[in-house]
Amino acid sequence: MRCPGCYAFDAAHLGSQTQLRDLSDFRGEALITRVLALLDEHKPLHVSLVGGDPLVRYRELDSLLPQIESRGIHTQVVTSAFREIPSAWKALKKLNVVVSIDGLQPEHDARRKPATYERILNNIRNANITIHCTITSQIAGRPGYLDEFLGFWCRRPEIVKVWFSIFTPQRGATDPEILSPSQRVATIAYLKRLRVKFPKLDMPESVIQELAAPPQHPDACIFARTTKIISADLNTLVTPCQFGGVPDCAQCGCIASMGLAAVGHHRVAGPLTAGQIFMASDRVGKLWRIFQRKLLRKPLNRSVPSAFNILAPEEPERAPWLRRT
Ligand code: SF4
Repeated sequence: MRCPGCYAFDAAHLGSQTQLRDLSDFRGEALITRVLALLDEHKPLHVSLVGGDPLVRYRELDSLLPQIESRGIHTQVVTSAFREIPSAWKALKKLNVVVSIDGLQPEHDARRKPATYERILNNIRNANITIHCTITSQIAGRPGYLDEFLGFWCRRPEIVKVWFSIFTPQRGATDPEILSPSQRVATIAYLKRLRVKFPKLDMPESVIQELAAPPQHPDACIFARTTKIISADLNTLVTPCQFGGVPDCAQCGCIASMGLAAVGHHRVAGPLTAGQIFMASDRVGKLWRIFQRKLLRKPLNRSVPSAFNILAPEEPERAPWLRRT
């Protein structure tokens, strides 16, 4: 697949050493077994299976999803819906199927063929779907565009909710998709109005407000610090977040990052925020792991699974005897 704007195939996505198309991946039983082994090792709360397109490995996915759910893990499948979403997946209570849409039909079809509007509408008719759209400069520059977009998707019964992100560039990039500062301000105000008009727009005002002041670097990003992103060979890590490379945090528009930033700014007691508690806990956890590694004289195990990110403790437990004491 070669959808324009896809960051996974960006030359910098996996750092300077390798590119996604150079990695070998797994299929069949090997893929299922290795993904489950990774989940059992990392014990995530949530796993996102992302593109390329996870539905390329449709049979493996169909087998994996119930097994992931039986482990109590929440799963998100992010797809272009180029293939039919099975109606049986509706029975999976911890599954969220997210379909990526690049704007209204003329713009989307030009960028996403063969996953055109017509094909998507046919492939999601028996499913529960979250729509995700990344707002680009071209979209932000057209008055009323998002009204029209939400009007189209929100009236459809199979659509449960809609999310928007804002295009996130790499540092120093000049992509035509990048919003100007004034477009960003106007878009934030526009989203606040839209969430009142369209209840399926699942973006609380506190999350939208975070777009005005994103984390300035990955160390300040709760999302980046709580996820582990593993590429298609089930081994290569993507850092510092799902965008890879050197993302321009100051222009970040990722809804997941903004969601966790909003949680981080939530006051839990007086001036104390959830984010301050998290950062302190994260620092203590990292020191504890360094202490364990030194004690056991073991290197960090960086051998982990494909195209998914994990919201979980960063390293597996390495010393059960220490835990008991
Ligand atoms: S998710 Fe956004 S804020 Fe967080 S590290 Fe990535 S680009 Fe930076």
